[in-house]
Amino acid sequence: MSKNYATVNPCVMCMPMGSVLAFRGIENTMPMFHGSQGCSTYIRLHLAHHFREPIDIASSALSERGAVYGGTANLKMGLKNVIKGYNPRIIGVATTCLAETIGEDVPGIISEFRQEEGMADDITIIPVSTPSYRGSHEEGYNETLKAIVQSLASPALPNEKLNLVIGAIVSPADIRYLKQMLDELNCNRILLPDFSDTFDAPLVENNPKMPAGGTPIDDVKDMANSSETLSLGICTQAASAGGYLENTFNIPHTRLPLPIGLEYTDMFAWKLEEITGQPLPGKYESERGRLLDTMVDVHKYVAKVRIAVFGDTDTVLGITKLVSEIGMDPVVIASGTHNPVFAEAVKNITPGSTILHGCDFTDIHREIKNHGVELMLGPFTGRQISMKENIPLIRVGLPNHDRVGAARQLVVGYEGAARLVDTITNTLLELEDKNKTVTELII
Ligand code: SF4
Repeated sequence: MSKNYATVNPCVMCMPMGSVLAFRGIENTMPMFHGSQGCSTYIRLHLAHHFREPIDIASSALSERGAVYGGTANLKMGLKNVIKGYNPRIIGVATTCLAETIGEDVPGIISEFRQEEGMADDITIIPVSTPSYRGSHEEGYNETLKAIVQSLASPALPNEKLNLVIGAIVSPADIRYLKQMLDELNCNRILLPDFSDTFDAPLVENNPKMPAGGTPIDDVKDMANSSETLSLGICTQAASAGGYLENTFNIPHTRLPLPIGLEYTDMFAWKLEEITGQPLPGKYESERGRLLDTMVDVHKYVAKVRIAVFGDTDTVLGITKLVSEIGMDPVVIASGTHNPVFAEAVKNITPGSTILHGCDFTDIHREIKNHGVELMLGPFTGRQISMKENIPLIRVGLPNHDRVGAARQLVVGYEGAARLVDTITNTLLELEDKNKTVTELII
């Protein structure tokens, strides 16, 4: 097999992009990049296209001078401007490649800034190291969640709550669904993060500078006092908010796969029932039954269809599980994030598949051609392959620039699985229609 020594069309996004997703999931939090201006512009553009929302990300706007002499002055000035312009309770400072390459001591600069400004504790500044040459957006997301908890969680009296950490990037609709499940069980919980409103805000007059919503800051502080942490997402192990809470405050920590597909949603539902000691409301039993019915209905259309699934590790893992459950043939499974845990987990579901991780779209394209793939499923960044090879692409995950509705795309839970199965089947049926004559279509 030929080896690429350069990444061509990466299948990941920048590491600080993940930090923005995590920071925007906390109330009154303003994300800021320490680095050059372009990183902020580029990531704002991606997120604004994906969520169809205005996205503000401040930048310390390092120039040549900062790159040579250090960016301390820029970062301090930027922090002052953010406080003045947005009045946030938290500023999340993520580094970009340039700041890391010149070895900026961001925690040191922040502590100097606090002393110089005589800042009270009512504003928290959270630094997180996110150079894109070290990790992907998924890793940036998880490292930021850990940094948030490290900065804020503080021990007090036990609160008998469940910490639910969403350790993989999902949509605002997915978060709303998970919240609803917890609420319908009267589960006393803290959800981290919650960008269901901040990335999918209703249209109102006089939009606030920072959108309302997010996990309350007091809730994040209280995570140190919960009785249990449940993390959704099993692939990204290196940084884990739940692992930190377990190691530091002895809070038992369980990890489950993202609840995508029948079995993984069952695992989540059963765990919630075990934690709360209550059965889920009957409507979930009905949703489950409808999903099973859908699976039976579509089996004749989807069985043995060769599919390629690519994107974020935990999402790809869940979707691989789902497409296997409906009898498809997942021949190529790929993630741009280098992650042996992901590869092993996928292998356990579908040992015969070609599994790529840390790959780019050149690798994915080659394997798609080698395996005669009939359907692709992943972010819109796979569209060049889709157009070149004339294979339909179902857009799932981030980024999605060229279709609307990414914020409302539900993938988790029984309902999300049923919707995705419908989309997969209808895409295949449409493909079949293209090869029919008008008379055949009428019949
Ligand atoms: S410098 Fe790094 S963080 Fe900025 S856009 Fe480039 S890869 Fe992304």
